[in-house]
Amino acid sequence: MPISVLLLANTPEPDRTVAAAARLCYSDVSVVEIAEGLKGEDVSRFIGHLRSSGHFSPFEHAVFTFAIDGISRVCSHQLVRHRMASYSQQSQRYVPMEEPEMITPPSLSSNPEALALFTKVAAETHDAYGKMIGSGIPAEDARYILPHGWATKMVVTMNARELHHFFSMRLCRRAQWEIRDLARRMLILAREKAPVLFSLAGPDCLTKGRCFESRPCGKPFSSMEEVLSGC
Ligand SMILES: Cc1cc2nc3c(=O)[nH]c(=O)nc-3n(C[C@H](O)[C@H](O)[C@H](O)COP(=O)(O)OP(=O)(O)OC[C@H]3O[C@@H](n4cnc5c(N)ncnc54)[C@H](O)[C@@H]3O)c2cc1C
Repeated sequence: MPISVLLLANTPEPDRTVAAAARLCYSDVSVVEIAEGLKGEDVSRFIGHLRSSGHFSPFEHAVFTFAIDGISRVCSHQLVRHRMASYSQQSQRYVPMEEPEMITPPSLSSNPEALALFTKVAAETHDAYGKMIGSGIPAEDARYILPHGWATKMVVTMNARELHHFFSMRLCRRAQWEIRDLARRMLILAREKAPVLFSLAGPDCLTKGRCFESRPCGKPFSSMEEVLSGC
């Protein structure tokens, strides 16, 4: 099942909104003037200043809502550890899992023997789940047998500050392949709407020029293109 990520909604003119908030902080302007006459170069200058001075709170004024389909419960559990966000997830209490929808890790896809075992056990598990529902067990209890790899759907809202934090952790090569793929797709979508805010977002090796991992991967990213390509 392929992952699918959609940007459902975002703050209108996110770059400009953050730059206007920065202008309010640093200039003697009234609120009616903060966005007036803000040119592209002003937006870049204000956002650049926020970034270089570590003044990230104005980034919180730009908010992005993503709809995500086709991630595993492993990935969704890693995602919801990010607490500065809002989440909605498809319920396994109210929505019966009619079809066996599993996310297959690449290591299994490339190993026919392991893949056959994975597929067989997933089908048997779903079959047992269906039998339990058929015998009157509520879906909320029958779901206890479903595996971590089961597919799920979410809507997640994060502001640009939290997105930067999320991208720094989850685009690192040390993060797991699935949440890395999710983060990469989210960054591509966010950059389309806020190219200045997300001109430099991603793992610390790229954005800060150094790695803070205790066990570095040894392959630091050298460009944003490399991060976005997912290699
Ligand atoms: C490669 C990798 C391996 C991991 N392995 C494990 C693991 O083995 N076990 C495990 O349990 N987790 C693991 N995690 C998850 C990790 O510990 C974090 O829970 C997750 O990445 C969310 O990060 P966060 O808490 O910094 O961010 P968020 O929850 O997104 O919060 C953003 C920032 O807000 C601040 N903040 C948020 N809440 C609080 C608070 N209550 N008090 C003070 N400050 C707060 C912090 O500065 C935080 O960095 C792993 C993550 C990665 C990327």
